[in-house]
Amino acid sequence: MIKLNRSQEAVIALLGREGPLTRRQLCSSTGLSWAVIAKTVSQLGSAGFLKDGETLPTRRRGRNPGEVVFSDKYVMAGISVGKDAVSYFLLELNFTLVLSGEERLAPGDDPVPVINRCLEKMFSKFGKRIISVGISFPGIISSDCGTIIKSVDFPECDGRNIRNEIKTALRFDIPVIIERNAVCNLNYLKLADKVTEDILLVSACHGVSTALMIDGEIIHGRRGGIGEIGHLEISSLPGNADGTIPCECGRINCVETMVGGKSWQRRWEEMRVRKSTLPEDIYEAVGKAVPSALELVGSSMDFIYPYLSFLVRFFRPEKLFFVLNLPESSSLVITTCLIRCFEKDGVTEIPEMGFIFENDGVTGRGAALLGFEFLSGNPYYRKLGKEL
Ligand SMILES: [Zn+2]
Repeated sequence: MIKLNRSQEAVIALLGREGPLTRRQLCSSTGLSWAVIAKTVSQLGSAGFLKDGETLPTRRRGRNPGEVVFSDKYVMAGISVGKDAVSYFLLELNFTLVLSGEERLAPGDDPVPVINRCLEKMFSKFGKRIISVGISFPGIISSDCGTIIKSVDFPECDGRNIRNEIKTALRFDIPVIIERNAVCNLNYLKLADKVTEDILLVSACHGVSTALMIDGEIIHGRRGGIGEIGHLEISSLPGNADGTIPCECGRINCVETMVGGKSWQRRWEEMRVRKSTLPEDIYEAVGKAVPSALELVGSSMDFIYPYLSFLVRFFRPEKLFFVLNLPESSSLVITTCLIRCFEKDGVTEIPEMGFIFENDGVTGRGAALLGFEFLSGNPYYRKLGKEL
């Protein structure tokens, strides 16, 4: 496994956040001396992580021979496990996508052998160039990023340390980090979109969960389960006051009985009084501004608002972002409904709202970027160290 010292980690983290940079800029931003930076850049250069900008073709804003950039020697693997498919992504250290694909999952399939098949595909092409594996998994993951505590989509994984299973099947000794989807999405925002403010991210695709970043660090719960709001129970949920609609997890009154792909599908069928087969139909209808579809998405905000307002009041994030697999037009509906909720509740300091759309492998890319977090010395993953 690649082992870097603190200065090397600092240079990599800074280049990821602000690069390319000159040695002088690296000095002033890290606070390290010229000699240390020169030595660190040269070490990282010989190890194949970096190269000088002058060896590259002229870039948009002109050639700057003093600049240091990531080389394309190493890549990071990302896996996104969904209900019906496992997708994989390979990213260079400068976050460029070099390979992607997917394997289908049939209902009842154990996802671990499918994950291993995806990894094998990447490793057969890129072998030793892959320095890390990040996996985005739907469910509650232990705080050591290895064990699935609870997954409604894959109950056969409950209680299994799937990291150990995956590491055993891997031919290379590299970090394997498993996080839940919302954390991977937030990691994508942090690194690829470079959001630095305190932010609350709400992922409302098939399931519903949140992730929080305060002072540049993603907040992990003591057991790792923080942010899984989809299966929190609301007492007498509006629309399900008698608790007759069971959740997929077997309980009643979970948020997900009213919000997210599956519940939207059920409620859509009730509203339209006809069979609709796919959540995609609903997403398409939202895109076409069909009133009942807009009403469906809008009312979802009423259901998740109690949790959001609690988190907003408690942590006071500057930004509130959503990950959606809905068309972009839905963002206006959500913003309007949510602002109405905040106003009705007397909340005057509403965080700035934004959206990312899960149509470009955002979750899988965010998973791959977990490797970058590890490499650049994120204290949380560094603490886990050997376990990964
Ligand atoms: Zn549930």
